[in-house]
Amino acid sequence: MEKFSVVIIGGGPAGLTCGITLASAEGKFDFVEGNEYLVIYDEYSDLDKALLNNVPAVQKGTKGKELLERIRKQAEEFPSLKLKKGKVVKAEGEKGSFWIKLEDGSEFTAEYLVIATGFHKFDIEGLDVQVVPHRKSPRQGKIMIKNENGKVREGLFVAGLVAGVPTMYACASGSGAEVACDILSEWAGKTVVVHDVPDSD
Ligand SMILES: Cc1cc2nc3c(=O)[nH]c(=O)nc-3n(C[C@H](O)[C@H](O)[C@H](O)COP(=O)(O)OP(=O)(O)OC[C@H]3O[C@@H](n4cnc5c(N)ncnc54)[C@H](O)[C@@H]3O)c2cc1C
Repeated sequence: MEKFSVVIIGGGPAGLTCGITLASAEGKFDFVEGNEYLVIYDEYSDLDKALLNNVPAVQKGTKGKELLERIRKQAEEFPSLKLKKGKVVKAEGEKGSFWIKLEDGSEFTAEYLVIATGFHKFDIEGLDVQVVPHRKSPRQGKIMIKNENGKVREGLFVAGLVAGVPTMYACASGSGAEVACDILSEWAGKTVVVHDVPDSD
């Protein structure tokens, strides 16, 4: 069974940003050396339906589907980050030993687990989480997982709409980056962010 440092369930803006941020720390900190990350995503993301006119640095009129494809390609450029298409049906465990099972029968283990599955429903069996009404949805019937600043319990995090952020690209993506920084900070034992600067400046 393949083992990962962090498995992220969900490959929308939140899950992909979380994975990219984690993987971008490679080469900058000793404590991430040898780490591997996995993003598992099913067919649909809310971004598939969007037309974007208000995402900073994204050209007005960009289709969400195209942007999602671009982010997936960007994610694939990081050697420590893998993407797998599939539906997670079961997950259980604790910090250091999560186990994740997909509909196609494949299984993975992870030290940390991040749920970034959007706000429509949560039907993954096995995790002891509290699913509650979404606190910031403009529509009824949307859900989130109860958490404190993205953390559900030791080793288990939520990012994006399932964490309760407003349904805006920047909020979902930012939530994914924040969870990644929180995990890196736990490993470091101090506050960590991942920044790069151009050689010439
Ligand atoms: C019609 C429409 C228009 C929009 N327009 C805008 C806009 O103009 N500007 C803006 O800022 N925002 C817009 N949005 C909002 C934006 O698309 C969302 O806020 C954003 O996509 C949420 O990101 P997320 O990663 O939290 O969830 P999602 O993008 O929904 O991603 C959830 C991910 O989890 C995966 N998943 C779920 N369950 C499982 C499972 N069991 N196993 C594996 N994977 C799973 C899904 O396949 C998906 O990859 C729009 C949304 C819609 C629907």
